[in-house]
Amino acid sequence: MAGPRKARRNRGSGIGDRKKGASPDPGSRIPDPGRSPSVWLQELTWEEVAAYLRARDTILVPFGTTEQHGPAGPLGLDGYVAIALAEDAARQAGVLAAPPVWYGDSSHHLGFPGTVSLRTETLMQVVYDVVRSLARHGFRRVLLINGHKWTNLPALTSAARNIREFELPGVRTAVADPMYLARGIAGRLKHAVEHHAGELEISQVLYKFPHTIRTEKLSDAACEFDRLLGPFGTTDLFGAGGRDSIDQPWTSGEQRQHAPTGQFSSNRAASADTGRQYHDYMVERLVEFLAWWQRQPTGPDAGGPGPVPTDEDRP
Ligand SMILES: [Zn+2]
Repeated sequence: MAGPRKARRNRGSGIGDRKKGASPDPGSRIPDPGRSPSVWLQELTWEEVAAYLRARDTILVPFGTTEQHGPAGPLGLDGYVAIALAEDAARQAGVLAAPPVWYGDSSHHLGFPGTVSLRTETLMQVVYDVVRSLARHGFRRVLLINGHKWTNLPALTSAARNIREFELPGVRTAVADPMYLARGIAGRLKHAVEHHAGELEISQVLYKFPHTIRTEKLSDAACEFDRLLGPFGTTDLFGAGGRDSIDQPWTSGEQRQHAPTGQFSSNRAASADTGRQYHDYMVERLVEFLAWWQRQPTGPDAGGPGPVPTDEDRP
């Protein structure tokens, strides 16, 4: 694997902006087109996947949601985030990406029309079944890329850990999320606290899928977190101010009341330029990670059950 490369500026990703019937965006081809004509598994034949697996064993799986993102953002915003990251990282690292999962753990948004939510346990089962299937064919490194931040993470990280511990110890799993991956740049880019439908996620999708953002509806609408959650509320997903916090889930009914527009923090300053910097930074970090990760060994017992402690093992 080559080392980290400079993030490229890709306006079109070849997914949301591709015209119906048009030939695939040549930019979505991975570096060795002789081996694989696209980074997306769903665009390959089984013979092309088999050829890829003779050389590599890594795949990225994007996870989004179908949930309201305020008046300016589409319901699929988190999916677009995950797809953009997976496609550009896969292209630059020369690895594959699996079809996106457009549904996530969004019960708290069900007070808004259009939101579709998986139960936390259903989302975990989706991860198990996707990883099991991929592992069966020889994929040994599965990186889940989450576009939803906070609320998908318990399901994704628990499933990624459990399947490795109890079922497929030879398969390396990992979970990437903007909330952690962009710590090094978020504070420098944003003009307000960043929360649901905020400046950074709207900017990233404005950069990669401009037709999906209603720019005339960008606004300063925000939740009054201090009033609603007291001194321990999480006001900024990137941890601005280093505030100590305690998670207090609220219901979809409360959420509709607390955030009548659906937006939790200001996105008025959102711009494609901010989105480009935020996106390119994360892609560069993902490519760096993949270069390192692919040099690490996978477990000796790939595909088989690992030793599970029994009562007799306990002191
Ligand atoms: Zn979102």
